[in-house]
Amino acid sequence: MSIAGNVGLSDLPRICPLISRRVQSSPGGTETRIVAVGAVRFGDVRPVVIAGPCAVESREQTLAVARAVKAAGADMLRGGAFKPRTSPHDFQGLGVEGLQILREASRETGLPVVTEVMDPRLVETVSEYADMLQIGSRNMQNYPLLIEAGKSGKPVLLKRGMAASLCEWLGAAEYVAKEGNLEIVLCERGIKAFPAGEYSRNVLDLNVIPAVKNETFLPVIVDPSHATGVASMVETASCAAIEFGSHGLIIEVACDHAGAAKPKCDAAQAINPATLRKIVNFIETRTEHTALRKAHAV
Ligand code: PEP
Ligand code: MN
Repeated sequence: MSIAGNVGLSDLPRICPLISRRVQSSPGGTETRIVAVGAVRFGDVRPVVIAGPCAVESREQTLAVARAVKAAGADMLRGGAFKPRTSPHDFQGLGVEGLQILREASRETGLPVVTEVMDPRLVETVSEYADMLQIGSRNMQNYPLLIEAGKSGKPVLLKRGMAASLCEWLGAAEYVAKEGNLEIVLCERGIKAFPAGEYSRNVLDLNVIPAVKNETFLPVIVDPSHATGVASMVETASCAAIEFGSHGLIIEVACDHAGAAKPKCDAAQAINPATLRKIVNFIETRTEHTALRKAHAV
């Protein structure tokens, strides 16, 4: 007997036939669908590194962080122009001015940009400036937003709701896919569980990475910044995520040179560019090892 509304993995072929591995193999027959954002390829052998500030706070801050993450080896730039904040009295982001700053930073560094869109009415505007639309944890089940993001045809980074099951998350991705947009990358960003808030912000659910890969051909990445909320945990969480098979990372970075301002948003979880470099080095070494192992196995 099933409880109404209660779904399990066996319901996925019904909930999300367009993205379910059980219903169809990846278009092209490959193990994972490659989602391309400019020259960046999610789902390919080398995990993708997205890095940048939590929020676009000023032109100066964003350009400085963008240059630093580019120098550290990041593939893509992140930064919020529209910020989902717990208090309406807190900094809400620079809006369209923030989008313009991101575009400038992208032009200068050559890094494609991902930024959050929270309002279905703003999908068109954000799409003019961004290379990829981010749907945040709080909006994972905002169905009108998912539909608009689907219609835009832009690549979508779909974060997992902080209390969402795998079925709910993939169901949300199906809304985007149903509009004819299969350019979807999933992102685990930590879930609410009892230790959350005691020694870390959320609980990083690494187990979900192989589970996602079993159920769908869409690429999946990890956000170690929001998952931990603690800068000193980000490097270990990043490496663990890669070991679990993540196709990439999205990491918050702040400059720590003399005179650099403390971020207004999520300062405690921002790593410095030197730590980002270490994470990139880890990925490069590991990718080389994997390629060597494969070459020997042939
Ligand atoms: C973010 O990445 O800027 C963000 C707000 O993350 P999340 O939606 O995962 O909380
Ligand atoms: Mn943040």
